[in-house]
Amino acid sequence: MILILAPNTQIQSTEYQSLMDHLAGLQGVQVRVHKEHGSEQTLTEIYLIGNTKTLEIEDVRDLPCVENVVRVSQDYRILGRHKDDSRSAHFNYKGVRFGQDTLNVFAGLCAVDNAAHVEIMLRALRDNGQVCTRMGAYKPRTSPYAFQGHGKNCLPFVFDLAGKYGIKVIAMEITHESHLNEIHEALQQAGNPTGVMLQIGTRNTQNFELLKIVGRQQEYPVLLKRGFGITLDESLNAAEYLASEGNRNVVFGLRGMKTNMGDPHRNMVDFAHVPVVKRLTRMPVCVDPSHSVGTRAASPDGILDVMHATAQGVLAGANMVLVDFHPEPPQALVDGPQALLLSELPHFLEDVQIAREAYLKRAQLVQKYQPK
Ligand code: PEP
Ligand code: MN
Repeated sequence: MILILAPNTQIQSTEYQSLMDHLAGLQGVQVRVHKEHGSEQTLTEIYLIGNTKTLEIEDVRDLPCVENVVRVSQDYRILGRHKDDSRSAHFNYKGVRFGQDTLNVFAGLCAVDNAAHVEIMLRALRDNGQVCTRMGAYKPRTSPYAFQGHGKNCLPFVFDLAGKYGIKVIAMEITHESHLNEIHEALQQAGNPTGVMLQIGTRNTQNFELLKIVGRQQEYPVLLKRGFGITLDESLNAAEYLASEGNRNVVFGLRGMKTNMGDPHRNMVDFAHVPVVKRLTRMPVCVDPSHSVGTRAASPDGILDVMHATAQGVLAGANMVLVDFHPEPPQALVDGPQALLLSELPHFLEDVQIAREAYLKRAQLVQKYQPK
């Protein structure tokens, strides 16, 4: 059960104290307090965990400071979308809004190779009105002999250049807790010219200890990729690990499922799950067409499969697109064969816009045909 308290409730107030005293007296019920600091107000939510079946919603709503009460109906207690749940489904980071109602494109390098390519990429993004990107410094690779990413060595120039080109948020995968500290220190040393959305890759979706550590910090939002060989429920529970540790600024990423049934694509595209994740949870949903499709092949209409898959995700209401670009794909150290060319960036963005407009029209159509 979740108790949503009146905005700006003071923990020193006698009302709050009497609420907490009352909750402490409930048998078999654990109390967990979560604070959400917004720009205008602080929201306090209290999670009652354990034997809450006997509690009546109306009685709990009458307790001091309580504005609303939600009975948790399924597993994803914090991130889930429950009945009568009016908690917000968005967050802001570095002035960018991430919600189930927005769309942000994160085009960029799968792996940072050198400063020149980073600069060319970021300049192209700025020239096309973009404020987000993806830049891989730590790469989880199948072979131990493959390029593992430049790690912390590339962070200073990546962050400086991001600041120079007005990039506000960089999606960056981490594979170990030490990477979180390295990113934090490099950002501070650079004077925080940009922000980072920590990416947990599909190979680490169920790395529970990493999830707990990333969940314990609230400074950086997290993009959690769906595990490529586990159920949707298992991946959503992984996202819940982040929230249960305190970080609910989580975007859920679909990136295709590993099976040869998807051949000749690299993975089986699973973007039909965009609306499913939006229904089950309040997380914004990201699609990664590059790692799903994995090639630059095009259909007879001339449209690249990556662009088709992107459109499918956006048409289904996706809120974020993570997509690989590279100024010189043959020179890319990771995933060159799936990278789009910088000359394709305006085309890609316009194509995304068409799909987004079509999605918004489709959502309006529901209102038109809704029984009065
Ligand atoms: C990536 O986005 O660079 C990546 C490795 O993705 P995934 O974890 O989905 O394979
Ligand atoms: Mn990749």
